Formats: sequence, structure tokens, C-alpha cells
Amino acid sequence: MPKIIVAIDGYSSCGKSTLARALASQMGYAYIDSGAMYRCVTLYALQQGMIKDKVFLDEEIISILPDVHISFQFNAHSKTSDTYLNDVNVERQIRSLEVAEIVSKVSIVKEVRTHLVALQRKMGKGKGIVMDGRDIGTNVFPHAELKIFMTADMDVRIDRRLDELTSKGMHVDREDVKRNLLQRDHDDTHRKENPLIKAVDAVLLDNSELTREEQLEFVVKLIHDLTLTKDAF
Ligand code: C5P
Repeated sequence: MPKIIVAIDGYSSCGKSTLARALASQMGYAYIDSGAMYRCVTLYALQQGMIKDKVFLDEEIISILPDVHISFQFNAHSKTSDTYLNDVNVERQIRSLEVAEIVSKVSIVKEVRTHLVALQRKMGKGKGIVMDGRDIGTNVFPHAELKIFMTADMDVRIDRRLDELTSKGMHVDREDVKRNLLQRDHDDTHRKENPLIKAVDAVLLDNSELTREEQLEFVVKLIHDLTLTKDAF
């Protein structure tokens, strides 16, 4: 079967990465978490002292882009890939509330997007990739063979983010998580450059009441149906 690109977009904490990881593993594809890349730029800017009280200068963020080297490496223990920033494993740090509070503002900067989108397109060159984010089906891979747009009820999303943070040993207040998700939804859907919107040809997946297995089954069936339509490739 020819390799394809699967683009998964949607709101924060809808379970995009969980589905994308499982799908990539089942298909033998690479999984790229594009949100982790925006988080790495944000973390690096924080480490350089460029963000104070959630305020930064665009020019300073743009100036660090050549120094931000991002890679993904498989972690045999967790059986998922971890994010590395300049060869340091930052998987835990990029998920902190400090990074989450500012990442959607950093993602608004046009040059940051241009830089990261170019890297993402390079990663998808050979196809055989599942990438999740906010603009994958609309901007990064507008010709992806399969596009999914995910959504879920706010309470379900809060529970998922709390679970994710707890599993990484971080304990945060439910109200703080809710506030952060609402703020990022707003920033991501209202920005000028590549806002979060459903691509016209994306399949909508509301997974509020679906198990992980049901979601995977749903997408695998879509891929199976695609392969029956020869001109999809
Ligand atoms: O997916 P995740 O929640 O880790 O993404 C973090 C932030 O990165 C999002 O809230 C969004 O502002 C930004 N992002 C983006 N475009 C993408 C992926 C993430 O702007 N393709």
C-alpha cells in the first residue's frame, strides 16, 4: 500500500497526539507532534530570559530560531517519542503550564510559523507520516491524503489534560487548566496566520464519547476506504 500523509488538527487536549501516536504505530509511520515544536521555541525563549510576565519582543524570538534544534527520539521505556531541544530531552518541560501559558502567543509570530512549517514539510517529504497540530491539513500539507479535524467537550478535554500532566508527575489546578485551554482556543482560532479551522476536506471526529480503540478503528477504516479509491494517491 502506498504511504500517505495523515494530517490531524483540532483543539488543545482533544486527544490528537494519543490518536496520532497509535495510528503511526499501527501503520509503521513516523509521528510528528508539531505542537511540541512550538513549545520548544517557547521554552528556549523562556530559558534565554526573553519572556517576562508573559511579554516578549517578536524580534528577540525571531533571532533565536537558528539556535533551536528540535528532534524526536523513541523512548523504549514509555514506548513513545520524546522531544529533544538542542539534544536535551525536554518532553516534561515543554508540557509545563509556564510554557502552555505563552505558547499560543509565540505561535502567532509569522516568522516562527514560517520557520517551523518549513521543517515540518521537510519531515513529510517521504510521506508515511502522521502529524498533528492546528494548521497541518490547511497549511502544512494541504494535499494530505487524509485529514482529520478533532473536537471534544470541554470537560472531557480538561480531564485529558489533567491526566496527561499527572502522568508526567505535574499537579495543577483544574481551573488553571480550563482557563489555559479557553485562552489557547481563542488565540489559535483568532490569529491572522494560519488559524485553527477545519479544512473543507477534513473528516470531523468528535471523540467525547469514544474510546481510544474506537477512534483508532474509525481512522484505520478511513484509510482502508481511501486505498479502495485509487486516485487518492
Ligand atoms: O498541540 P499542543 O497543545 O502541544 O500545541 C501547543 C500550541 O502550539 C497550540 O496551542 C498552538 O498555539 C500552537 N500550535 C500551532 N500550530 C500547530 C501546532 C501547535 O500554532 N501546528
